[in-house]
Amino acid sequence: MMKHDILKMQDPEVFASITGEVRRQTETLELIASENFTSRAVMEACGSVMTNKYAEGYPGKRYYGGCEYVDIAENLARDRAKQLFGCEYVNVQPHSGSSANMAVLFSVLKPGDPIMGLDLSHGGHLTHGSSVNFSGQLFDAHSYGVDRETGIIDMNKVEEMAMQVRPKLIIAGASAYSQGFDLKAFRQIADKVGALLMADVAHPAGLMAAGVMPNPMEHCHFVTTTTHKTLRGPRGGMIMMGKDFENPLGITIKTKTGSRVKMMSEVMDAEVMPGIQGGPLMHIIAGKAVAFGEALQPEFKVYAQQVKDNAAAMAARFLGLGYHIVSGGTKNHLMLLDLRNKEVTGKVAENLLHDAGITVNKNMVPFDDKSPFVTSGIRVGTPAMTTRGMKVAESEQIAGLIDRVISAANQPDIADVCKQVKAEIRELCLSFPLDGYGPLI
Ligand SMILES: *Cc1c(COP(=O)(O)O)cnc(C)c1O
Repeated sequence: MMKHDILKMQDPEVFASITGEVRRQTETLELIASENFTSRAVMEACGSVMTNKYAEGYPGKRYYGGCEYVDIAENLARDRAKQLFGCEYVNVQPHSGSSANMAVLFSVLKPGDPIMGLDLSHGGHLTHGSSVNFSGQLFDAHSYGVDRETGIIDMNKVEEMAMQVRPKLIIAGASAYSQGFDLKAFRQIADKVGALLMADVAHPAGLMAAGVMPNPMEHCHFVTTTTHKTLRGPRGGMIMMGKDFENPLGITIKTKTGSRVKMMSEVMDAEVMPGIQGGPLMHIIAGKAVAFGEALQPEFKVYAQQVKDNAAAMAARFLGLGYHIVSGGTKNHLMLLDLRNKEVTGKVAENLLHDAGITVNKNMVPFDDKSPFVTSGIRVGTPAMTTRGMKVAESEQIAGLIDRVISAANQPDIADVCKQVKAEIRELCLSFPLDGYGPLI
């Protein structure tokens, strides 16, 4: 019996959209750096009865009755996350990475306070101070960037800006940056200007949890992440603190004997709920617990190392084929190709690769002269293909296939090239079936 047989009978239209998506995920190659395939166990938890339960509050302190079983799931998620990242505090309730960031910003800033984050067009995220996002609209946001020549963040410039701006919060982290962040240096700058430091590790969280990238906890006041990128869990967010501390705004709480300054953990929990969210998604939190359990297994370390090895092999092949990679290479799971020397825009490349069965996203490159709807680059990542079991040989093969499409972009036979590559990609994907992961119907 198929998984969605009831849905198929009751609502054939929605069912058809899901079967279409299953086919797409099965037969085409996913290279979007922020995507992955969760395990079937994670999907079972997310598709479970826990979606029916209201559980405002936290384990043992809920505003609703009947929470004894969802409490077990949330406690498992919290305990496993603490073990995974070696942190004292975690909140697993944020519905998304953006909500996690919103909770941190609202918990320690007042409207109009100065903040610093990586420029969106240099690889940063909307929630790091972009003018079209709450972070740029409610706060006095200043963006640091990468060096025009090297494509790498210039820490001297970061320090210079911090001295000038005197931010209350500095955000380190990115969505399209293939180097690591020197969080020790960021912390020194933050301490020098009296700022708090938040690392948003939404992208590399899985690599950090596996120990193949440095753990951010010791250098940061706050670490936020998504749970669905390299961490390979369900779609959601999470907030962590290596060590708890007294909240810097001096918010107090009444006690029997008078009052005391609240710990940051208390302020943060209250910021997530009731501050910015209502009821937690308990089915997703159960899925997070399952995913963290998987990430604690030795196999996950092997997976994370392979993600990095595949990205390195792909980058080397692209460099060999004359591609320009922003920052010169990769130390994580992704790379940003600047296609200006190939006379193709990001938009055209994304569309042609789609026709060839390869999914990537167009992406601004630093100092881009094109709009965000056109762009000069594409972002390529290895987390999802590595979950399928692909290794270095396939990574090199894929770089070659991408090059075949991009090299032919301005040729009259481009449609034929896309068709040929699509057939090869389909064959490649079908020879790496998603056993235990991904599509299920
Ligand atoms: C993906 C991402 C987020 C946001 O995650 P959503 O779940 O899409 O809100 C936040 N920060 C960074 C750096 C990201 O890459």
